[in-house]
Amino acid sequence: MRFDLITIFPEFFVGPLDHGILRRARETGLVEVHVQDLRVFTKDRHRTVDDRPFGGGEGMVLKPEPLFEAAESLLGASVGEASKPGAAGTKTAIVLMSAAGRLFQQETARRYAQLERIILICGRYEGVDERVAEHLATEEISIGDFVLSGGELPAMMVVDAVTRLLPGALGNEASSQNESFSASSAFAARTPQVGAQHAALLQPEASNARGHNGRESTDANRVLLDFPHYTRPAEYRGWPVPEVLIGGNHAEVAKWRRAASIEKTRRNRPDLLPRE
Ligand code: SAH
Repeated sequence: MRFDLITIFPEFFVGPLDHGILRRARETGLVEVHVQDLRVFTKDRHRTVDDRPFGGGEGMVLKPEPLFEAAESLLGASVGEASKPGAAGTKTAIVLMSAAGRLFQQETARRYAQLERIILICGRYEGVDERVAEHLATEEISIGDFVLSGGELPAMMVVDAVTRLLPGALGNEASSQNESFSASSAFAARTPQVGAQHAALLQPEASNARGHNGRESTDANRVLLDFPHYTRPAEYRGWPVPEVLIGGNHAEVAKWRRAASIEKTRRNRPDLLPRE
């Protein structure tokens, strides 16, 4: 899998790419991450990447030409023009990071993990000329309902979330199957004997299953949060670990984890559960 990050701040990525799972995935060749300085594709003396917005208003907007040319140089192919649009490869995504994009979810990460290449475009200032979203990017993606000052952190999140799903990225393969938002989370994988009452909890609401709200809403997203984890010491400052986890009774542990998972989802993310 290859990631290309198009940015006006190439040094931004030095730290985040150099730790933990991402670092190992790069070292073992599982992923290749290329950081592309956008200014290389400017033609004027000042290496201008932005300009004032048509129609007036605040701030500056990233110009289309350097972004199109940077992406095309990475692709080694033209994306075409209005009269002659180019064909996009199916194994490559060109993702524009944008607060006004579709929400990035675990399901999106799973879909991206099937690709061969992802080119991520990091916006800055007031954003990016809309023709980039319309005619260059294959998707416009937001990492949450808040506005950041640039697309670099959001792009890094996508790289991280996708990389850890690639076979071989995690030490323990089970880890990416048994966690929050994974289709086989608390219920399926960890509790083979899902009762009807719990199975009902996983039924998608009719409205959400249709995928409105700009969400990548599928049944796979309608899962539970991870259960709480504990490690030694068994008692810390007078706060004990739940007794059942120390007892060694695997069936009881599984039962407790399932219940704790539902409880935590209800408390922190009631939106993931069917309405009662
Ligand atoms: N005017 C824009 C915000 C621009 S913020 C708006 O109101 O929607 C500058 C850049 O930061 C954006 O172009 C985008 O690349 C990035 N960015 C900000 N918030 C983001 C988010 N929630 N998800 C993804 N990218 C984001």
